[in-house]
Amino acid sequence: MSASQHTPVVPLEAGASPDNPPCPACGEPLFGWLAPQRGLAGAVSRCESCGLGVVGGEAEPEEALRELDRLRAGEELVLANRASFASALGNAGWAGLAPGSRYLFTVEAVRRLIARRDQVVSSSRWVPGASIVATWGTLLNSVTFGHNVALAALGANAVAAPADKPWKRRIDALASIVLAIPAMIIALPIELAGGACRRGAVVRLRTQLL
Ligand SMILES: [Zn+2]
Repeated sequence: MSASQHTPVVPLEAGASPDNPPCPACGEPLFGWLAPQRGLAGAVSRCESCGLGVVGGEAEPEEALRELDRLRAGEELVLANRASFASALGNAGWAGLAPGSRYLFTVEAVRRLIARRDQVVSSSRWVPGASIVATWGTLLNSVTFGHNVALAALGANAVAAPADKPWKRRIDALASIVLAIPAMIIALPIELAGGACRRGAVVRLRTQLL
């Protein structure tokens, strides 16, 4: 008997249940990732296959495509990459987890979603400047009560969820100033590695019709 006959292989589909609705991009079940966070409509689940993140339960491909189209800047889509090192490191502190988010995209999730309307990803490029800033903000989120407060204060294109109490907001402001440079020293190598491994924090995609 060969080794393969002894090794049970459990397909991802086996995890499908009412608690694990299908991924709107690839159809595999979604699994729990994060408890509900400040500024988000519910718990966050993710697809183990294409990496898509979904905030608050049931998800529909059409809705995901509509949200994707909102990220379009001219010919291009600019994504906070849920498959980035910054996301893996930051979890709930990941800067891409903006208040009000519903879908958290990856390049692979976009590829699967837009295939539904006969489109393909023709190029994907790491955006170094925005990525380093996002990873820096992710690190600061791990030491502040609020979320993305330093990024929003800097004028970066980020939606903040400030802490609920004034004293917490004062501590956040102080922590952001004191730790700004140490966080940048840590963020730089993480994000340079992320960019080199195609796991950068911010990615610019071009799409075209087949
Ligand atoms: Zn998926």
